[in-house]
Amino acid sequence: MKILIVEDEEKLARFTELELMHEGYETAKAFDGRTGLEMAESGEYDLILLDIMLPGLNGIEVLRRIRKNSDVPVILLTARDSVMDKVSGLDTGADDYITKPFDIEELLARIRAALRKKTPSAEVSSLLTSGLLTLDTASHIVKYDGKTIELTNREFGLLKKLLENKSVVLSRETLLDDVWGFDYVGETNVVDVYIRYIRSKIDDVFGVKIIQTVRGVGYVIRE
Ligand code: CA
Repeated sequence: MKILIVEDEEKLARFTELELMHEGYETAKAFDGRTGLEMAESGEYDLILLDIMLPGLNGIEVLRRIRKNSDVPVILLTARDSVMDKVSGLDTGADDYITKPFDIEELLARIRAALRKKTPSAEVSSLLTSGLLTLDTASHIVKYDGKTIELTNREFGLLKKLLENKSVVLSRETLLDDVWGFDYVGETNVVDVYIRYIRSKIDDVFGVKIIQTVRGVGYVIRE
């Protein structure tokens, strides 16, 4: 397993690298956004630790470009514990984030979790549907009436979870735990935000109502 560390605080990058090597990972470092992006685009890394505040190209922008053609696991490192950073990071397709200064054991746990999540044991393609909506779990293609809908990773995960549990009302907490996959302290309304994103891309476009809101409980997709 090879991990790329993109972090301009060289001391922190070196410390992290030593810890990762100690755990048996192969590592490489980049100290600015552009170099990090170039290295990430080589496709030879199994996971990327990406600082947000970087010279040259910031982490969110690096991530956005990586996501154009790769779903390599990315964990964001952020010094700022701001909701906006988290939301824009996750929306751009980060798998997880960790706020600096972080505990190395916590980082290692997050790395293991992200690697596990991304190594599906020979994922079998299956089609989830609701009316004219189809979601292919393997190819990550979502269509409504044959028209492809562009969803971010997080939107896709949320829609998938709801389709897998058709007719079951899922609470915001359940969706957070299952789709975000870690304790998203506090702001459960991030779920509402993403439901709105999905609705703007499907319901508003096709004039349908795919996801129902059950007031005080959560969300459900019914047949
Ligand atoms: Ca930095």
